Order: sequence, then structure tokens, then C-alpha cells
Amino acid sequence: MFESLFIRTVAQCVEAGLVDGSKLYVDSSLVDAAASKESVIKGTPELIATLKRAYRATESKLEDTTTPESYEAVNDRLMSRSDPDAAAVRRGGGDSRPRYHHHRAIDDQKGVITAVETTPGSIPENKKLLELIEQHEKNTVSHVEVAVADHKYGTQENYVACAERGTRSHMGDASAKQNHIRSKGIFPESAFECDPVKDIYRCPAGETLKPRRLHWAKRTIEYKGAKAVCAGCSLRAQCTRASNGRSLKRHEKQAALDIARAQAHSRAAERDRRRRRHLMEASFADAANNHHYKRARWRRLWRQQIQDYLIASIQNVRILLKHYQPKRSALAALKLATPESFYPLNNAFALGIRRI
Ligand code: SF4
Repeated sequence: MFESLFIRTVAQCVEAGLVDGSKLYVDSSLVDAAASKESVIKGTPELIATLKRAYRATESKLEDTTTPESYEAVNDRLMSRSDPDAAAVRRGGGDSRPRYHHHRAIDDQKGVITAVETTPGSIPENKKLLELIEQHEKNTVSHVEVAVADHKYGTQENYVACAERGTRSHMGDASAKQNHIRSKGIFPESAFECDPVKDIYRCPAGETLKPRRLHWAKRTIEYKGAKAVCAGCSLRAQCTRASNGRSLKRHEKQAALDIARAQAHSRAAERDRRRRRHLMEASFADAANNHHYKRARWRRLWRQQIQDYLIASIQNVRILLKHYQPKRSALAALKLATPESFYPLNNAFALGIRRI
């Protein structure tokens, strides 16, 4: 019901011409669960799994809504006794405590929130990019041409997925950030020439790097120079710090990855990432300052989803009101609006609050 309410606010914004649909900004933020850090207990993965099953079984006797299995927390050694769905994670350099992750996508035109997802705090943000894009496309009936996000979303997996679905990647490059210090002062990968016919790389010294092993999880092939050749090479100091010679990794869909990386490093992408900071921070700050978004009101994931849907719905309604009465503040517009004009929303809220 709350999801339908949220989708309905998106549809009304689309109808009012407030959503362009082609450019999407994605980000996430941690929300403190309604549980203290003292409620977190530590145990073996088996013990934690058994406890969670027991919580779920008890809860299913009391309520008809339980936490989906797919939202098992990544950290399987810690569990909060107050809210077993929330995962104990750190924010910045602060304390580890039970938290949820709120994932959000907003449209470029007026900052309308078009997709929302709630997970335990341990689910990384980059895992939700494609789901948010698909949710946005479904809710707005449009195709995402450009996805904008920070470097945490710029993984090889996301780059390839975006390239394959015809979406430009304007996300920061995660590997560039990670490799920056490690690869400083040595030949970049672009200095090596790929020969796809012979399936080899040729290094700046003219030597050959051959395929050595396949990394199944990362879908990459490692190419390596011969240890003895690299050891006697005059360019070694500029090429590698490894004792057994230089190596390179090539993704199985390297062509798509190269295209996405070039898009991510373009000036248009940098401009979009600057605008994302402004749009996203405004959207999250509005949720935190006006709707108490930073702290969970209730316990369990399904209730946290309700909170997130309600806050996103209200933020969209306020954008809608501002559009209809641009000279008045959203609060003044709310006061002036007749109760009849909000009947469907009032009805849904009343039903939802009664149920909670
Ligand atoms: S160190 Fe090895 S890979 Fe690097 S330039 Fe020399 S021979 Fe080529």
C-alpha cells in the first residue's frame, strides 16, 4: 500500500511535467535503527542464523508481514536483539551500531524521488544501482540514458551492466580511486598494447604478457610477463614493484568497460557529479530536517520500508505543490489545499498509521 502511494506521487509528478526521466542521480544514506549498540550480540554464523530464524518464527505468529529472506545481512556474526534486521555498521569514523541503508534515485529535472529501496546497513550501495534504475524506468515509464553517482557505484560490474543496457555511466571510477596510490609512478594500463587475435599484451619494452589465469568471480583474465624477462628489464623501475613481474587484468567485456570508463572520465560526467552533490544533498537534508529521516521510528525492515516510502512520498507531494503554487511556500500551499483534493492520500496515510 505504501509502495503504491509512493508510485502514485511519482506518476502525478510525471503528469505535471516535473520528471524528465532520462537522467538519474543515485545515492544512499545510513539510517540509525531504533536499537542501541548495546543490543548487538556476537556469535558464530550458525548461532546468529538460528537466532534470526527463531525471531522470524515468533514474529510470523504475531504479524502477517515478515522480513524477506533476500535481505539477510552480510555480517553474519553480529545481531541486534532489539532489531535483528538492522546490521551493525560504522558511519565514517564513528561507532558501529544497528543501521539501515536507504537507497534513493532522483530525477534531474526537479529532484523528484523516483525510486526508493531499503536494506540492512551492511548491503553496499553499488549493489542497488540497477534495481533503482529499473524501478525508476517502471515508475516513470522512461528510459534512463545517463546514470550519475559517486565513485562507490563505479564498479566494473555496474559499468558493464550500464553499457549493455544503453545507459551512459557518469559514475566516479572506483578502481581509479583504489589504484591511485598503488599504481602511482608506474606505466598505466594504456601503455600496454592489446593484440586480441593472439590474445596477448605487448609492454613498452616490446615483451609479451600472456594469459595466466581466469578470475571467475570478477570475470577477469590476468596477463603476465615472464618473471626472468621483467627482472632483467631496464624499464622495470617504471613498470612494476612486484618481485615476480608485471601483470594486467582484462575483463571479459573489456570493450564495454572501456567505453563506460571513458564516459565516466568525461567533462560532462564531472559536471553531472557536481550537480548530483547539490541535488542529492538537498534531497537528503530536506528528509532529515523536515521528516526525521535519520532515525528509524519503528523496528524491523518492513516498517523501515514504510517510513522510507512515506518520507519520499511527502517530499514528492511538496515538490508537486511548489510547482502548482510556485509563489507560496509548500507549507502555505498545504494549508490552503482543500481536504477533498487530498482525499486519496489522506485515506492511505490514515490506513497505514492505523496498521502500524
Ligand atoms: S618490466 Fe616486464 S612488462 Fe614491464 S616493460 Fe619490462 S619487460 Fe615489459
